[in-house]
Amino acid sequence: MSRSLTRGVFRCFKWLERLGDRITGAAGPVFVALAIVLLSLGAVCFFEVIQPSLPLPWLTTPLCVLVALNLFGHYYYVCTVPPGFVNDPPHKHEPGTGMVWAKRRRGAGARPLTGVRWSEEEGAHVTRAAVSKCKRCGEMRPEVSLLSCRDVRVLMVDCERSHHCRICNRCVLKYDHHCPVRINQCVGIHNERHFVLFLWYLVIATACYVGFGWRFVLIGLGWFDEPWPYFAPPMAFLLTYILSVVLCMAVTAMAGWHLFMIASGETSVESQDHELYRRVARDRGETFVNCYDLGYRKNLQLFFNVGPDGYPYYTLLLPLRIVPYTDGWSWARKQGYETHRGVRPGEELTDDDEE
Ligand SMILES: [Zn+2]
Ligand SMILES: [Zn+2]
Repeated sequence: MSRSLTRGVFRCFKWLERLGDRITGAAGPVFVALAIVLLSLGAVCFFEVIQPSLPLPWLTTPLCVLVALNLFGHYYYVCTVPPGFVNDPPHKHEPGTGMVWAKRRRGAGARPLTGVRWSEEEGAHVTRAAVSKCKRCGEMRPEVSLLSCRDVRVLMVDCERSHHCRICNRCVLKYDHHCPVRINQCVGIHNERHFVLFLWYLVIATACYVGFGWRFVLIGLGWFDEPWPYFAPPMAFLLTYILSVVLCMAVTAMAGWHLFMIASGETSVESQDHELYRRVARDRGETFVNCYDLGYRKNLQLFFNVGPDGYPYYTLLLPLRIVPYTDGWSWARKQGYETHRGVRPGEELTDDDEE
């Protein structure tokens, strides 16, 4: 009796969660439109009111324009570049040749277009992922194959760095999270770089707004007895200023957290999973080791695909598109680690555990 009641309540919760997914999925375009309006309003207010008051205009004007270009550029890419679905045709994510594409380093041009695009000498030990079928959408996706101590393949349970998104109802390579509020799509291998860069440029932009704009808030409130000669109404300026204060604090925390996860070689999903693995391993007197963690420096280089075998560092300062270091079907691993250490076969969390 109590068991069927529990199951009924559980099913009810599941239904509510699905309904929530559908509503956020449908409201996504509204949020994106609102974000574009607010970003544009902020930019207009900044360049009309604050920008002319900055010292050294020959230096600060180009810098502010660069930040704005990056902010809008990365926002555009994170909303429009598909996250990378497991059933995308392989040629879909090849680098383009247009102006928006960054140029590779000389010598790195001969790198393969599939698999890991960095050479193994760069400290990355590369293994191709095994594949399994997603129970929900039926697509084949990369998967972890776990080896027992006798080197016999026992269990093929978990997808490797790819997860099924319930809102998109598709499997995403290196799934990080689905973001309905800002970008209305998943963050995966092909747009995660734009996502993190957008967050950081938003931090810089809002910090400049807050830091250089406070005097105009006081003028707008009528404290200085100075006229408001600008086209932008004082109310609009005050609104974007308050929003900037809130965003600056919230997004700094979020962008910092993402950078910390990237430096640890984890996605948002993996960061939660690894927390559990760490606990389980500790209880057994073992230490959990994340096999994708190549040290913070290499992790950051691979994520942004900059450095010896990737793109030049200046690509971080321009709103350019680049391809990720891997096609999502092979991964760079710690030398000597085929899988995580401290996790036993059958303990890996799967998409079903989230149910
Ligand atoms: Zn799926
Ligand atoms: Zn999604």
